[in-house]
Amino acid sequence: MKNSREPKNTPFEINGITVQPGTRAKVELPLAQLYTQTPLNVPIHVIHGRKPGPVFMVSAAIHGDELNGVEIIRRLLRHSALKNLSGTVLAVPVVNVFGFIHKSRYLPDRRDLNRCFPGSETGSLGARMAWQFKTQVLDRVSYAVDLHTGAIHRDNLPQIRANLSNEDTGAMANAFGVPVVINSVLGEGTLREVAEAQGIPVITYEAGEALRFDESCIRAGVKGVLNVMHHLGMTGSRRTKAPREPYIARSSSWVRAERDGVFLSLVALGAWIKSGDLIGRISSPFGGDDVDIISPASGILVGRNNLPLVNEGEALYHIARFEEVSEVAESLEVFTSDIEDGPTQSGQLPIV
Ligand SMILES: [Zn+2]
Repeated sequence: MKNSREPKNTPFEINGITVQPGTRAKVELPLAQLYTQTPLNVPIHVIHGRKPGPVFMVSAAIHGDELNGVEIIRRLLRHSALKNLSGTVLAVPVVNVFGFIHKSRYLPDRRDLNRCFPGSETGSLGARMAWQFKTQVLDRVSYAVDLHTGAIHRDNLPQIRANLSNEDTGAMANAFGVPVVINSVLGEGTLREVAEAQGIPVITYEAGEALRFDESCIRAGVKGVLNVMHHLGMTGSRRTKAPREPYIARSSSWVRAERDGVFLSLVALGAWIKSGDLIGRISSPFGGDDVDIISPASGILVGRNNLPLVNEGEALYHIARFEEVSEVAESLEVFTSDIEDGPTQSGQLPIV
C-alpha cells in the first residue's frame, strides 16, 4: 500500500535513448573516431531508479592510463545497493577512450583531456571531445565523483581532492570516507573546475598508480562512491557503519630530487614523517657518495615516486601537513586494516 503513494520517476533520455524507471541501459556516446574511421564510442551505463532523485555521475580514465577507477565502476555496477535506487547513476568507466587504448594519459595529439573543458565544437580534438562530453553528459548531472590515480610511476595514498569552499562539495568529500582530504581549487580546463563553475559539486578520488590495479584503492573507492550515493539519499539503509570524519590537509608540497641518480625510498605511503627525518637516498649506480634526502616538512606521505631512476628536480614525495597529524596517522591505520580485512565489494575475488 505504502509503495503506491511513493512518487514515481519519469523516463530518462540520453543520446536519443529512453531509459524507463527501474531499468538500466548502456548508451554508446559517439565522441570520436579512429583514423580508420572506426567509431570510438564512450559507453555510459545508465541506472535509472524507480524513485526520483539526483543524477549522479561517476567517471574514470579521463586520463586514459588511470585504471583503478575502471575497476571501481565495474564493481559498483554489480553492487546490490544499485537495485533500489532513487535517482539516476551515469557511470562512465572510460572517458578518454583514445588514451585508454594506447595505455596513455593523453589524447593522440598529446593534449590532456582534463585540461580541455569546457571545450568547443570547432576546437582541437580534445576541445571537441570535452564539448561533446560536457553538453551530452555533464550538463545533465547534479553531482559527480571523478576517479583518478597518480601519474605513471607515481603512487597516491587514497585521498579526496575537492573545492571545500563549496559546502555541498565539502559534504560529499566528508561522506566519501577516506581519512585524507586535500582542499584544492583546480587549474583551468579540468572537468571538476568547469562543473563547479556551473554549480555541480564534484570531488576527485585519487588513489594508486597509473597502469596498475591496487586492491585496497579499489575497495576504498567502491565503498566511497556508495557512501556518497547514500549521503545524497540515492540508496537505502547502509549495511556498514558510517565512515569517520576525514582530516583536511592544511597544505601540501613536493620534495624534489637534489641530484640525478638512483632513488631509494625509506618511507611508505601513509607514513607519518617529521621534519628532519631521513626519508630516502639518491645513490650512483657506479659508486660514489650517497646523498641523503631529509624531509623539510612534517606530515603524512600522500604521494610517492616509484621509479628508482630520477633526474634532478623530479618530484619524489608529496607530503600533506595537518593540524592533528597524530590523529590522521591513527585514523589511517584503522582505515587501512578495515579496508584490507573488509569485503572486496560485489563478491569479487581480490586482485593480488
Ligand atoms: Zn588523473
